Amino acid sequence: MRDRHVTVAGLGVSGISAARALRRMGAQVTVVDGGDSDAHRARAVELGAQDVTVRLADAENLPAGTDLIVTSPGWKPQSPLFTAAGAAGVPVWGDVELAWRLRAARSAPPAPWLAVTGTNGKTTTVQMLASILGAAGLRAPAVGNIGTPLIDVVLAEEPPDVLAVELSSYQLHWAPSLRAHSAAVLNLAPDHLDWHGSMEAYAADKGRVYEGNQVACVYNCADPATEELVRRADVEEGCRAVGFTLGTPGPSELGVVDGILVDRAFVENRREQAQELAEVSDVTPAAPHNIANALAAAALARAYGVPPAAVRDGLRAFRPDAHRIAHVADIDGVAYVDDSKATNTHATQASLAAYDSIVWIAGGLAKGATFDELVRESAPRLRGAVLIGADRHLIHEALTRHAPDVPVVDLARTDTGAMAAAVHEAARLAGHGDTVLMAPACASMDMFVNYNARGDAFTDAVRALAAAGAHDV
Ligand code: ADP
Repeated sequence: MRDRHVTVAGLGVSGISAARALRRMGAQVTVVDGGDSDAHRARAVELGAQDVTVRLADAENLPAGTDLIVTSPGWKPQSPLFTAAGAAGVPVWGDVELAWRLRAARSAPPAPWLAVTGTNGKTTTVQMLASILGAAGLRAPAVGNIGTPLIDVVLAEEPPDVLAVELSSYQLHWAPSLRAHSAAVLNLAPDHLDWHGSMEAYAADKGRVYEGNQVACVYNCADPATEELVRRADVEEGCRAVGFTLGTPGPSELGVVDGILVDRAFVENRREQAQELAEVSDVTPAAPHNIANALAAAALARAYGVPPAAVRDGLRAFRPDAHRIAHVADIDGVAYVDDSKATNTHATQASLAAYDSIVWIAGGLAKGATFDELVRESAPRLRGAVLIGADRHLIHEALTRHAPDVPVVDLARTDTGAMAAAVHEAARLAGHGDTVLMAPACASMDMFVNYNARGDAFTDAVRALAAAGAHDV
């Protein structure tokens, strides 16, 4: 990198970490970003002190003399900067590509990567995986979109033993040389199609995670598209396809038998047909989609040689991040659950499937989604619905079409206070044994800064309700 001219696209967490690392290696670094807020300027001053040039309010022009672009994941491939790079023959790497190449350039033997992608469940699964690897006594942080930036972990003084890496479809798009030890695609549903251009392109980018795998390609037996990606991948000799299923597993699969997670893919004692790993009740929450995540994490850990007891201990120790099917309170026999992270219909379908009698709080920005399938599948479990947010009418129309008997309260509000009103309406609709589930199936930015703020608003409203005493509702 010495004296190379590298342009970093994006002044976010990964862009800053890339710029710093490249500068330390002696590159001449320019960061470009379309923004020009106070926060941007403060970051620019900080990087400027490290001899990095920053161009704000200028994301389109390729700086003269650029040898390489390192892009942040969010930048669309259609951006004029990349068109200019293509015309000038300048390569474009993502932050993951840079981290992967830096890893290979280190003198110490590099830590292998266990990679996880999919439309939903990535963060949860890599955290479960890190917990399992930790229980096996390995130094194995969860990285990717979470925790310390990947580049910083790769360059750390004491590199970890193995990495549990979350990879988005964007990151995979820009990481052509990545070769994981083993990788899992959890599921595939339409998302981010505006970025990728089509479902085929989105799936192909996800499928890159399997390219060159050494030991195992882990796929979801309930989602044939993931298995198809394994079939198409060019892997190292001896690398195995390993499925996970919520049912009884076949010979090269992990699955569930009588409430026990079992492994039939990596059985050490050849006389045994299956290896017991953990009980379903060891997984929190023990909802079906989360058991699937646990099986995927277990498959990757087992591919790496982790013993069954560590899988059990790691799963027991795991607690999900905030706003992912988080139980907030029980008030008068009604459970209140925050799944603000359910920002698309696929995630919402999973959480609606986890409860029997639901008052559903939904709505926000639909991002071009349709709700017919979600509502049709979930209608038998809906006891009521409370709608908020900019695109709530789309959900209302689907409810009218597929669940005409379900009472709907359309709050016609997009202000932040609407969440408290929604909780009150939901409490009115709910009866003993019901679950009030806030799983909006939409992005939050019409009403809130992000899904965390939306989940906090729900949690605050539920706590206020509990404090007031449900009888006053
Ligand atoms: P990601 O990192 O892929 O966004 P998270 O683990 O943060 O995934 O979970 C995002 C949302 O998806 C949560 O609301 C959760 O309820 C839902 N979810 C988690 N795992 C799955 C899965 N395997 N299938 C479908 N939905 C899931």
